[in-house]
Amino acid sequence: MSDILHILQQYWGYNRFRPLQEDIIRSVLEKKDTLGLMPTGGGKSITFQVPAMAIEGTCIVITPLISLMKDQVDGLRRLRIKATCIYSGMSRREIMTALDNCLYGNYKFLYVSPERLGTELFRSKLSAMQISLLVVDEAHCISQWGYDFRPSYLQIAQIRELIPDTPILALTATATNDVIKDIQKQLHFKKENVFRKSFNRPNLTYIVKKGENKVEQLIRILNRIQGSAIVYVRSRKKTKEICDQLTQNGISAAFYHAGLSTEIKNECQNKWKNNEYRVIVATNAFGMGIDKPDVRIVVHIDLPNAPEEYYQEAGRAGRDEKKAYAVTLYAKTDKAKLRKRIIDSFPERDFIKRVYEALCNHLQVAEGYGSGSSYDFNIDIFCKHFKLPILPTYHAIKILEQSHYIEYIEDPNMASRIMMTVPREGLYQIQESDTQTELLLQALLRSYTGLFADYVFINEEVLMQRSGLSHDDVYARLIFLSKRGILHYIPRKRIPMIYYSQRRIDAAQIVIPKEVYEIRKARMEHRINSILNYADSENICRTQILLNYFGEKTEECGTCDICIEKAKRTTKDNTFNHIEKDIRNIIGQQAMTLDDIIDNLAYPAKDIIDVLRFLCDEGYISNLNEHYRLN
Ligand code: ADP
Ligand code: MG
Repeated sequence: MSDILHILQQYWGYNRFRPLQEDIIRSVLEKKDTLGLMPTGGGKSITFQVPAMAIEGTCIVITPLISLMKDQVDGLRRLRIKATCIYSGMSRREIMTALDNCLYGNYKFLYVSPERLGTELFRSKLSAMQISLLVVDEAHCISQWGYDFRPSYLQIAQIRELIPDTPILALTATATNDVIKDIQKQLHFKKENVFRKSFNRPNLTYIVKKGENKVEQLIRILNRIQGSAIVYVRSRKKTKEICDQLTQNGISAAFYHAGLSTEIKNECQNKWKNNEYRVIVATNAFGMGIDKPDVRIVVHIDLPNAPEEYYQEAGRAGRDEKKAYAVTLYAKTDKAKLRKRIIDSFPERDFIKRVYEALCNHLQVAEGYGSGSSYDFNIDIFCKHFKLPILPTYHAIKILEQSHYIEYIEDPNMASRIMMTVPREGLYQIQESDTQTELLLQALLRSYTGLFADYVFINEEVLMQRSGLSHDDVYARLIFLSKRGILHYIPRKRIPMIYYSQRRIDAAQIVIPKEVYEIRKARMEHRINSILNYADSENICRTQILLNYFGEKTEECGTCDICIEKAKRTTKDNTFNHIEKDIRNIIGQQAMTLDDIIDNLAYPAKDIIDVLRFLCDEGYISNLNEHYRLN
C-alpha cells in the first residue's frame, strides 16, 4: 500500500487518496475486474493512473472524448510519463508511430477512442503488446439502457478476448442500477465488483422555481446567492443572449458552447475558473473535465433529457462541500417542449434511409466501399444541398450511428501536432536557415518535450508568444520545415467527420433494429418523464426523487424547496393550534370584542382573525353584539 501512496506523492504531489480511490486501486492491483462509480471531478483518473505506474506494461484507456484525451496525454507528459493516443482522423503514419511507441518505447499509457478498436491495425499490434490494465472511461456508454449508448463501445468485449488475463477497470460518474449490472455483463466481468459512494450531496440544495419570466428570475437569484455560477441552456444562441442580459444588469458573465474556437473556449473557461467572470452561460458542452470546487450555484434555464445529465450538471456546484444550490427554472410550456424532443429524436424510418442515401452520395462513397474511412462532414451544407430539415436529419444520422452503419464525430476539436523527423543532431546542420526559423525552432524545442519520439500536441499561440513571430509567420515557418522534411506538421482541424463503420450498402437494405428505435424511444420517454416528475413534484422531496431514480433510498433532505414548504406549513399549523388554545382560554372567562382579543394575544392580528373566523364557521364560538363568546 505504501507503494501506491508513494507513486501518488512522487508523480502527482498529492498527499493522500480521496475516498474510494484507494479501494479501487487495491482491487485493480489484485487483478480483479472493477467498476468504479465516482462523481465528475471525484478523481477517477488517479484510480487507473496510479496502478498503471505500479505494474509493468502499457495501460489502455478507452474514452470517447477526443479533447479530454488530449488533455490527459498532455498532463501525463508534463509529469514525464510516456503517454500517447489514437483516434479517428489521425493518419496511418501517426497511428503506426503511436502503436510502435507502445510496443518498443516503454509507453505507460495508450488512450484510444472506441471506434478505433475495430481496426485490424490496432488488433494486430495489441496482441504483441504487454498490457497492464484495460480501462473503460465513461463506461455507461456500453449500455443500451444508459442515456449515452455508443455502439463502438461494444467492441471492447472483443478486445478483452485478445487479452484475457488483463484486468478491466470500468469508470463512470452516473449509472442507474440496471446500467451498473449491464456494464459488468457487457464487459464480461469475471465477478461482480462495484465500488460506489452514495449519490447524496448533503451540501447541495435542489430548488425548482416555477414562473414564466426566467431571465428576470435568474437575475434575482444571482443577486441573492453570491459566488461562482453556471447557467445551462439548450441552444448556442441563447448562451450569448442570456449572457448579454446578465452583463447589462451588472452581473459579470461569459458564454460557452461547442461552436466557439478552441482559443475562445479556453479563454472563457480559464477566466471563469479564476473568477474574472462570475457566471458562465453554457450549453451542455461545458463542464466535462472541469474542476472548479467553489461553484455556488448551477441554474438550469432548460432541463436536460435525463436525470443522469441533470445530476451531473447540477453536481458541479459545491464540490468543496460547502453550501451550494442547484436551481431549475420551470415554465408551464416546458413540459410540451420536453415531450417534443422525443418526437424530434425519432424521425420515420423511411426518412432515415433517405438521409443515408443522400449522405453517401454527398460524401461520394460508392456502394461496397467506405468501410473504415472517415470523411469531413458539414451538416449545414449537407442539409442545404439536399433540402433536408436539420433537426430530424441530425437525429437520423444518430440513429444510423446506433445501427452501426456510420459514426458521426461531431466535435473532433483536434489540436495541431508536430513530430521531428530528423534526429536532434540533424537540427544543427540545417542550411540556409533564417533567423525566424531559428526563433521558431527554439520556441518549439523549449516548449515541448518528446518531439523526437512521437507526435506532440502544440499550440501555435504559444509558439507565437515565445518566438515573438506573428501568426502567419509561425504557420509559414512550420509549413516550410515540414516541406523540408525536418518535422511533420499536422495543422489543427475542427471539422466534424463521418466515419464508415461498414461499407456503403443499398439504402433499402438498411435495418434499424427495434433496440435502436422502439426500445430507445421508450427509454427516452421514461427519462423525460422522470425529469418532468422531478420538476413537477408538489410534495415529494427533490433529493428523494433524484436518488430514488438511481435506486437509492434516503431521508427527506430538509433543504429543498419542497421540504422548506412543508416545514413552513407545519409551523403554520402549530401556530394555529396555539392561537386557538389561547383564544379559548381568554374568552372562556368573559365575552370579548375583537380588539380586546387582539390586544390580549401576542400574535399578528391577521392570524388571530383567521383563527377566529375558523372557530366561528365551525360553531365553536359565536358573535353577539360584537362580542365573541364560547358556545
Ligand atoms: P473525474 O475523471 O472523476 O471527473 P479527474 O480524474 O479529472 O476527475 O480529477 C479531478 C481533479 O481532482 C483533478 O484535478 C485531479 O488532479 C484531482 N485529484 C484527484 N485525486 C486527487 C487526490 N487524491 N488529491 C488531490 N487531488 C486529486
Ligand atoms: Mg474523467
